[in-house]
Amino acid sequence: MDEATPLLEVNNLHTHFFTKSGVVKAVDGVDFTINPGETLGIVGESGSGKSITAMSILGLIPSPPGKITEGEVIFKGEDLLHKSERQMRKIRGKEIAMVFQDPMTSLNPVFTVEKQMMETILAHEPVSKKQAKQRAIELLDLVGIPDPRKRLKDYPHEFSGGMRQRVMIAMALSCNPSLLIADEPTTALDVTIQAQILELFKKMQTELNMAIVMITHDLGVVSEVCDRVMVMYAGKPVEYTETSHLFDRGKHPYTLGLMNSIPKISTEKQKLEAIHGSPPDLRYLPRGCSFAPRCKHAMESCLTIDPALKKIDTDHYVSCLLYDEAKKKVTT
Ligand code: SF4
Repeated sequence: MDEATPLLEVNNLHTHFFTKSGVVKAVDGVDFTINPGETLGIVGESGSGKSITAMSILGLIPSPPGKITEGEVIFKGEDLLHKSERQMRKIRGKEIAMVFQDPMTSLNPVFTVEKQMMETILAHEPVSKKQAKQRAIELLDLVGIPDPRKRLKDYPHEFSGGMRQRVMIAMALSCNPSLLIADEPTTALDVTIQAQILELFKKMQTELNMAIVMITHDLGVVSEVCDRVMVMYAGKPVEYTETSHLFDRGKHPYTLGLMNSIPKISTEKQKLEAIHGSPPDLRYLPRGCSFAPRCKHAMESCLTIDPALKKIDTDHYVSCLLYDEAKKKVTT
């Protein structure tokens, strides 16, 4: 695949959950692309659709009640939504790997790290047991686990939180995936360990030219590792641009709210501003802009028009009527 061809293209993705109390529109029109070796951050509060977007890409939506009702997930030129479960099992782990927030939920506590790593390698690679073990040792070494040959014999609970996350990353890398989806990989870790794991992601990416989707609620993580960022609210992207653009000239009121709610290093006293209200119930989204009940810039037209994601600058897209001259004056 040449560098100009996107590795992953998600087009107009809709993932809904059909529950007894109504249809939950968890992902409702998501579009983005990732190039080889690039890191895309997906940011938003809980329930904004970040993790469901990742699970949709991996074909892990429980059905029923979930269903991808519309869209395309083009990976290396093929639509993953048309693959069978058997084909997806081959892609997951080998081509696309995932790292979750809590490694204890992904590592099996009753098996040694050696058994679990070798199982993954042998399932996807045509190698002998001896070669698989050697690969496991190399991977633990690559992610900075001291004395990897000895540590391979340990059980997950014998590792600290940060070391367990490194083991998860080593397992995810075991088949040289071209895409790694990391869902809040540092949220459960303290800040110094978090910094080390983020450094590790950067190192892996440079050494392996792997693309990463980094799902996080933390703009600090985005600023550390992401090339581009998509901010999501109520199942939709509200801003999508390069990371440096977002921090220099982020536009959407929700993005600005997220930025104003994080402390800055300064000698002056700083008042942190919270975003008032809470995310909407995805079964009963308000008419017009979903953010309107919490937005301090809301206009009359925001209550009736659902803004589309529009290009406002080179590689900068925003869905807000403040940046849509034609529609912002329309009122009921
Ligand atoms: Fe706020 Fe209106 Fe923009 Fe929505 S469209 S974010 S309510 S100004």
